[in-house]
Amino acid sequence: YLQIENIKKYYGQGDNKVEVLRGINCGVEKSEICVMLGPSGSGKSTLLNLIGGIENIDEGDIVVGDTELGKLSRKELALYRRNTLGFIFQFYHLVPNLTVKENIESGAYLSKNPISVEELMDTLGLTEHQNKYPNQLSGGQQQRTAIGRALAKNPSLLLCDEPTGALDYKTSKDILELLERINDKYKTTIIIVTHNNAIKDMAHRVMKLRDGKITKIETNSSRIKAKDLEW
Ligand code: ATP
Ligand code: MG
Repeated sequence: YLQIENIKKYYGQGDNKVEVLRGINCGVEKSEICVMLGPSGSGKSTLLNLIGGIENIDEGDIVVGDTELGKLSRKELALYRRNTLGFIFQFYHLVPNLTVKENIESGAYLSKNPISVEELMDTLGLTEHQNKYPNQLSGGQQQRTAIGRALAKNPSLLLCDEPTGALDYKTSKDILELLERINDKYKTTIIIVTHNNAIKDMAHRVMKLRDGKITKIETNSSRIKAKDLEW
């Protein structure tokens, strides 16, 4: 479903030019949970941002479904982001003057295939908090709201950059289990970037990055993929 073909990415210019991704090749199948591990500065967020079409590819290409990102114009990239992607970050980036429900609804804007907000709030355990504002919520509740907003359009690809980075152990575990449930229920392909090794068990595929290169790819055959549960 996702093919990353010899991706290179540079920052800076002239003598300060640094190659932060140095030829990345990998693939992720539909409905997989793929976890990306690696030390700080190894290029995880950069790679995620390239998949998310929010940074330019310098060399190589990324193919999502049958869309070759490197060939898209700015406008087409914006459409790709709107139609295909959900994004979740470490710091939830909720809109402070919208309620939980309104934040989630905002994610479905112009979507052709939205998930019902009521259903999402139920799945995420947010129904009782729906009329609260972000500053009235715990970190875990804020992240669940951010997940709801990302899912509202029913994206086929969900990109998560350190989704539990700001949360305690127990809340992190809850959020990861929630992502697992979402993968089961909506067959969403999910890529999770993290420092947290504990997350490996829920992954169908684990990639390790170091210094802008993939050092290891493991597949977890004991995990049944969401798509294989379809009749
Ligand atoms: P972390 O775990 O700390 O989030 P990461 O693996 O996500 O790290 P990246 O943010 O992808 O790492 O950064 C990879 C490298 O690219 C780092 O050396 C970083 O300093 C550099 N870098 C990232 N963004 C920029 C930028 N906009 N301009 C210049 N250098 C950048
Ligand atoms: Mg990062």
